[in-house]
Amino acid sequence: MSLIPDDRLTELTREELSRYSRHLLLPEVGLDGQRRLKAARVLVVGAGGLGSPLALYLAAAGVGTLGIVDCDLVEASNLQRQVIFGTRDLERPKTAAAADRLKGLNPDVRIETYNLRLTSRNALQIIGGYDVVADGTDNYPTRYLVGDACVFLKKPNVYASIFQFEGQATVFDARRGPCYRCLYPSPPPPGLVPSCGEGGVMGVLPGILGTIQAAEVIKLIVGGGRPLIGRMHLLDAWLMRSVEVRLDKDPDCPVCGRNPTVTELVDYEQFCGLRDTRAEEIPSVTAGELRDRLEGGGRIQVVDIREPHERSLFRFEGAVSVPFGQLVRRMGEFDPDVDLVFICKIGQRSLYAIRALREAGYGGPMYNLRDGVNAWAREVDPSLAVYWPCGALLSEAEAPAAVRPLAGPGAGEGLSRWHFRPVGTFTGRLSRSSCRNSSVNR
Ligand SMILES: [Zn+2]
Repeated sequence: MSLIPDDRLTELTREELSRYSRHLLLPEVGLDGQRRLKAARVLVVGAGGLGSPLALYLAAAGVGTLGIVDCDLVEASNLQRQVIFGTRDLERPKTAAAADRLKGLNPDVRIETYNLRLTSRNALQIIGGYDVVADGTDNYPTRYLVGDACVFLKKPNVYASIFQFEGQATVFDARRGPCYRCLYPSPPPPGLVPSCGEGGVMGVLPGILGTIQAAEVIKLIVGGGRPLIGRMHLLDAWLMRSVEVRLDKDPDCPVCGRNPTVTELVDYEQFCGLRDTRAEEIPSVTAGELRDRLEGGGRIQVVDIREPHERSLFRFEGAVSVPFGQLVRRMGEFDPDVDLVFICKIGQRSLYAIRALREAGYGGPMYNLRDGVNAWAREVDPSLAVYWPCGALLSEAEAPAAVRPLAGPGAGEGLSRWHFRPVGTFTGRLSRSSCRNSSVNR
């Protein structure tokens, strides 16, 4: 059944009949489906890697009104995957640049831009004006906000997320299947799950996943096909394997379950631990202070908790390497009379590492390198400014070495598993019968 009621349909003009003729030839879309697309109002949250193909294909398909929410400016590092922008758009607000591109593609589409951050204060009002939401965001507070708002407003939430070479897509619709919180009741600890800005992403991957989202939006509007409700499509683009996981509604879901405990929007920054005051209790050192202390020759040991493939990009001289996952098990190796300084890429995972060791009973002095090795490369040793999210590009010579550790059969493991199973219970079950190929079960 289509999301768009009959009383909103209008006739197509002669130009529209010509432009959309390849849709009109499909009996599953046809004139009726195209009129529904024209009447539809779709909100794209995030004009990034996912939002780019989403908005482009929806505009091309003749979706009548497209809302775009984003508060960022176009940066050089976006252009590797955010194909809605061009080099000339650098430093422009993403919403304005996207609107220009979409208008050029299809002047019949009405573009409504929101150059702002979606928050608990504005989300219901903005989302309430649309028929369907497509979530192309890259952060947990906005994902939970969009997920909850869609449950309250009874809107479908066409969802995708990506990391490195892997992506997932589904349609959350609490009336017909699970919602975001049925799958992920609570967020992962802050800093534990690296973002694409930290872990990198294959540029074409959001192109594939965002296009899947566009297909799902169009199916919901036209009212045909089999929507991805209650199913999640998982793709590993490096191995080019895909698998489908069945997602069940959680009867105890805090938002859409039988006895919901969340009945209004909350403070999602706080919910996701991003305003956790405990972070301030952990002593930290700046990159400059760490350099001075190392040069002073005091009793100090730097502990690098990054993964091996990250260290291959940037080795911290004199540091002992203990990946995050082994810290608690190996804490007996540390001398409690020596000051430990924990380092990671941006100084977030290292905070979590210190907390984990404290909770495990480690009593020695521990410090966090503020802003991680990025700050070290920036402030102490600019020759190291090859670390990929600093905004500096890897040199040609260094790039192959940087990429190699991510390749091969282990590529889908390691850090990226946090992406697929970031939290608590994974309520979805592998539905073997629906796998395209039984040998690809994860
Ligand atoms: Zn739910």
